[in-house]
Amino acid sequence: MNEIKHHLIMTGSTSHMLRGDKVLKDKGIETALVPAPAEYGSVCAIAIRVRKEDSDISEKYLRENDIVISGIYEEKPQRLTGLIEKIRNSVIREEFLSILKKVEEGLELSFEDIVILLKAEGTAEKEALFKAADEMRKEILGDVVDIRGAIEFSNYCRKDCKYCGVRKGLTTLERYRMDEEEIMEIVHELHSLGLKTVILQSGEDPFWTKEKIGNLITRIKKETGMRITLSLGERPREEFEYFKELGADNYLLKIETTNKDIFEYVHPDDDYDHRIECSKWIRELGYINGSGCIIGLPGQREEDIAKDILFFKDMGINMIGIGPFIPAKGTPLEKYPHGSVEMTLKAVAVTRLVCKRVYLPATTALASIDPDGQTKALKAGANTIMLINTPSKYRYNYQIYSGKNMIDLKSAYKAIKGANRQFPPYLKFDMEVFSDEPNA
Ligand code: SAH
Repeated sequence: MNEIKHHLIMTGSTSHMLRGDKVLKDKGIETALVPAPAEYGSVCAIAIRVRKEDSDISEKYLRENDIVISGIYEEKPQRLTGLIEKIRNSVIREEFLSILKKVEEGLELSFEDIVILLKAEGTAEKEALFKAADEMRKEILGDVVDIRGAIEFSNYCRKDCKYCGVRKGLTTLERYRMDEEEIMEIVHELHSLGLKTVILQSGEDPFWTKEKIGNLITRIKKETGMRITLSLGERPREEFEYFKELGADNYLLKIETTNKDIFEYVHPDDDYDHRIECSKWIRELGYINGSGCIIGLPGQREEDIAKDILFFKDMGINMIGIGPFIPAKGTPLEKYPHGSVEMTLKAVAVTRLVCKRVYLPATTALASIDPDGQTKALKAGANTIMLINTPSKYRYNYQIYSGKNMIDLKSAYKAIKGANRQFPPYLKFDMEVFSDEPNA
């Protein structure tokens, strides 16, 4: 039963991976680009997956085309042995159970399967879904919750995304920009806590030119060596490239929704195809590629979310931020209801089952509408928490949605403890200081 069906070919670099995949596709070989398992220690975050029987010939074609191969591995089917046994007694529809059975056997889920999972009804089905995702997370990534620090360094934005609380049209919003020194001060604080990754997020702020961002990246790398995630919105390809050359590691640019109509409706300044193109550039340039979606946008259905999830899989996305829509004051969507916590958790869970080896944050947006939201997400497949480290004098004005909860170390403590999980070993800060605080 533990039959190996696919081999994973790892290449010397992202451009070799992309060129190699094209060579194989042109030769008529069926391939897929999948996130590379971490234990194979790759230079490139994406592996080319081929059928086992095509492995030798693929290797030959790649070598003939001067593609550097750094390794070829058997893909172990991700099985969850005993899953069905654990949930058999519950009230679960046959159809639903048969999909979890596919998960148990390590089979791929179809679009229809994903829709059925997202439509999980009643406590038993939902719990079974969350349980499956939780086991998948544990199997693949273990119990440590990765903690990262985010700095929202500017709320100036040239765009008017209809849901966003820092959109250009919000003329009453007090705008701020942190300067390089202020940002570096926080970066050093995060570094001294032992954190490994800093996330630099902002509106699309033209003041922060290519050169200014470049200087910041260079300083962070030189002074702390931390990993850098950029979340600056859309930029010209050469800027993505420049930042990567200077050492940026990850780029987070969410697709927000793959329903083109909804996308264009909520993003008056954006072009859907261009957004996807940006995401492809990010991948090509060798970034760890971050995407994600908003749950509960006007008009969005389970089918749309299923497409989002398949998009993440097909694009080989490595980090996927899934959060509920939250109406922000003064925006065109302020009167719309917030997205449901439950649908968000289902989307997180299904994403874990479909995309498997990916970073899934328990998002800040979830914590803003449900105090236990992050704990729940950690129990439904999530494995990462982002601390918000924007100085408090600015935080109020970076409310991309209203009532945004401040995710600090203490709430991370609470979420991680609540989900019975482990703090990262690299922390130089004793999280147990929060253990006897009444509201910890
Ligand atoms: N300007 C950058 C960073 C945006 S803020 C960019 O465009 O990529 C980061 C994320 O916050 C967005 O990608 C979006 O998914 C989320 N967001 C913004 N407003 C929101 C809202 N009202 N409800 C839920 N999520 C929101």
